[in-house]
Amino acid sequence: MTTATLGVGRYAPSPTGELHVGNLRTAMVAWALARQSGRRFVLRVEDIDQERSGFHEVQLRDLEELGIDWDGPVVFQSNNFDRYRDALADLERRGLTFECYCSRREIREAVRAPHSPASHYPGTCLHLSERERAEKKNSGRPAAIRLRPDTDPLAISDVFHGQFSGPIDALVLQRNDGAPAYNLAVVVDDAEAGVDQVVRGDDLLEASPGQAKLTSLLGSTPPTYAHVPLVLGSSGARLAKRDGAVTLAALKEQGWSTQELIEEMSKSLGVSDVSSVSDFMVSFNPEKMPLSAAYFTSERGFFVL
Ligand code: GLU
Repeated sequence: MTTATLGVGRYAPSPTGELHVGNLRTAMVAWALARQSGRRFVLRVEDIDQERSGFHEVQLRDLEELGIDWDGPVVFQSNNFDRYRDALADLERRGLTFECYCSRREIREAVRAPHSPASHYPGTCLHLSERERAEKKNSGRPAAIRLRPDTDPLAISDVFHGQFSGPIDALVLQRNDGAPAYNLAVVVDDAEAGVDQVVRGDDLLEASPGQAKLTSLLGSTPPTYAHVPLVLGSSGARLAKRDGAVTLAALKEQGWSTQELIEEMSKSLGVSDVSSVSDFMVSFNPEKMPLSAAYFTSERGFFVL
């Protein structure tokens, strides 16, 4: 029997709370794009931050209730710490990393340029002399490990945003408490699973050139991306608990059925007349997906302004 497949897609929630309508909608797109293209679909619980975990069971139940299925066992990042350590050791051995003693506040204050992204690293610890490094070390503050930044921007290919190019920031690979950082974990896990299609919220679009670069440095081919616009609450900020009934359970309490939610999410993604996620998968055309901001309230469903 041949085991060749047409690639792998994934959904990778952080188990820090129940999935809201925006998360469920992104999961539905991730599943549909993978299944439409004959890919396997894997589910990964991003629980490296174990103190803020605990919601994966209810998240998986909600996905199942929508009709989203996945292949193979669910992957938990908390089982993969050895893998992250090995990848980091490899990058360190190749001289691609540096120790950074900056606090978030110092970085924020150093970045005064009005248009630099919030995370943009000012380079403070990049060129420390031996003496300066020793002083920082002796000050008692532990170091984070960052990737040496690249000055060349790198373009990634995105189903919804086309070619997206951005500078490669000095990605944090290991936090200063010794825990692996999200950027490293996500890249290592996607490569390990053979993921070649990354679908997620577009708050991570800017992170993708750096992750693509890291993927190449670790010897794999960067995936294709599909960054789905975030759903907003009536205040115009990204949907959150404060927006009232925005989870499947809360909506059901308000009288919504699962099927009504699937219909509403599908309509907001440019597909009408569906009664299941399978119908959505068959009809979803990413080229016709509206890119304008979608708002959601339990009273009105999805709407655009
Ligand atoms: N775990 C991240 C989140 O829930 C998504 C990361 C990713 O898909 O790369 O926002």
